[in-house]
Amino acid sequence: MKILVPVKRVVDYNVKIRVKPDGSGVDLTNVKMSMNPFDEIAVEEALRQKEAGKATEVIVVSIGPAQAVETIRTGLAMGADRGIHVKTDGPVEPLAVAKILKGVANAEGPGVIILGKQAIDDDCNQTGQMLAALLGWGQGTFASKLVIDGEKAEVTREVDGGSQTVELKLPAIVTTDLRLNEPRYASLPNIMKAKKKPIAEQSPADYGVDTTPRLKVLKTVEPVGRKGGIKVASVRELVSKLKTEAGVLP
Ligand code: AMP
Repeated sequence: MKILVPVKRVVDYNVKIRVKPDGSGVDLTNVKMSMNPFDEIAVEEALRQKEAGKATEVIVVSIGPAQAVETIRTGLAMGADRGIHVKTDGPVEPLAVAKILKGVANAEGPGVIILGKQAIDDDCNQTGQMLAALLGWGQGTFASKLVIDGEKAEVTREVDGGSQTVELKLPAIVTTDLRLNEPRYASLPNIMKAKKKPIAEQSPADYGVDTTPRLKVLKTVEPVGRKGGIKVASVRELVSKLKTEAGVLP
């Protein structure tokens, strides 16, 4: 069984985001980019399933500009077998990504597709769900545990106040949450080996998908900065300020 892992190239999670002066979006010039952290968890999970004998091949796919190949190489260096790069010029919205992934799934026939629960750039949390709907497959989102057993998979999901376990008929969609695993670092020999692993280049048109955006960004703003604190001289003053200024005490 093949496992397909879609991986997105996003601004590295350590980078402090700068909004463009005209508010049209986030400034990406000279910014460190990395694999979306939830996708690293997805690659790790696919590799563990393969190591446990539940899968035979792990394929990473990225939809994006030429540099998305670096993100695919990261997945290959972690241990994935091969990559697919669907080359695009501008940003691609979740629905178009899901439609392209449907085309990839139809061509490859994976038993499981493991995506991140969300990409940390746009925080959409849509692609996995849309892909499940387009393919007509079951979905186990926000997974903290995945057990593949023959034609079925059991997914433990992170839900408000606890966890929920669902059983899915394969093929199925799984999206990863933070507690699923801790991704491995690529070793130097594996980084070298990854350079020789194949990456097929495709275009959205190969899957009959039009990536023209359907949404228009009206404005992007920085979060409101935190105001400075003050020091109080006594508990009496603190209580008085909480009552009269902060309005949090009756
Ligand atoms: P989103 O719905 O944008 O929050 O993304 C959820 C997940 O969909 C990500 O964690 C990836 O696994 C996958 N995904 C989204 N965009 C892309 C892309 N351009 N290329 C590959 N995978 C993607």
